[in-house]
Amino acid sequence: MSPRLFDTHNHLQDAPLTAHRAVILEELDRQGLVKMVVNGTQEQDWPAVLALARQSSKVIPAFGLHPWYVAQRSANWQSTLLHHLDQTPAGIGEIGLDRWIEGYDSPQQEAVFLWQWQMATERNLPVSIHCLRAWGRLLELLQQEPGPRCGFLLHSYGGPQEMIQPLVKLGAYFSISGYFAHERKTRQRETFRHVPPDRLLIETDAPDMLPPQNYIGFPLLDDASGKPINHPANISAIYRFVAELLHEPIALVAQRAEENFQRLFGGLMQ
Ligand SMILES: [Zn+2]
Repeated sequence: MSPRLFDTHNHLQDAPLTAHRAVILEELDRQGLVKMVVNGTQEQDWPAVLALARQSSKVIPAFGLHPWYVAQRSANWQSTLLHHLDQTPAGIGEIGLDRWIEGYDSPQQEAVFLWQWQMATERNLPVSIHCLRAWGRLLELLQQEPGPRCGFLLHSYGGPQEMIQPLVKLGAYFSISGYFAHERKTRQRETFRHVPPDRLLIETDAPDMLPPQNYIGFPLLDDASGKPINHPANISAIYRFVAELLHEPIALVAQRAEENFQRLFGGLMQ
């Protein structure tokens, strides 16, 4: 029997996937995908995320303003976000801190992040966090501010191993993407061996974070650029990657991933 699959973080609303959506949803059905959390990143894509949630019962929507897009936000982004959160059970994401992107503005990023974090705390909603090169600061903020009781996700966790325990204490879950299967990502793979089993989740981040060739079950090209992109149905191969990494049977990996997903996102599942 094929395992029940849960994709903790993707962007099914993204333009490169739009033309292929019907085929993707069929393939996800065949692969045994039960739920996926589809993350918005800016005001412009929130309506598409909401539409997907209405179209497919597999979709758990999340609405958030990503640190890459803070400069483009409109004057009423906060009320637009709350409006979307009020339409359907939804999480908050993708939000975070990023000191890798060119021209980043930390004070703006932090203000936007903290407001969304506070909304999640007030409403007890799971949050999907993106963090690049700002791990120390993120931990500091999360230690100062109360967070949602249900917990939160550090998507595609690339932070230091030493930070796992303090983050676990605050309610963190850690999701691994197929991108870390690339040969050079030794440190990230090692880090994931230290994540407590009851805090480990699995994601594609599709159409981003393309895994290496041997974990691409579903090749897909971006119609616009002709470049390979990550097909959401690669989730089944990423489960296999995690099983291999942890030297565990795939059935056990899948059972734990389901329990963890239920604990973090169960409040949003009908
Ligand atoms: Zn993402």
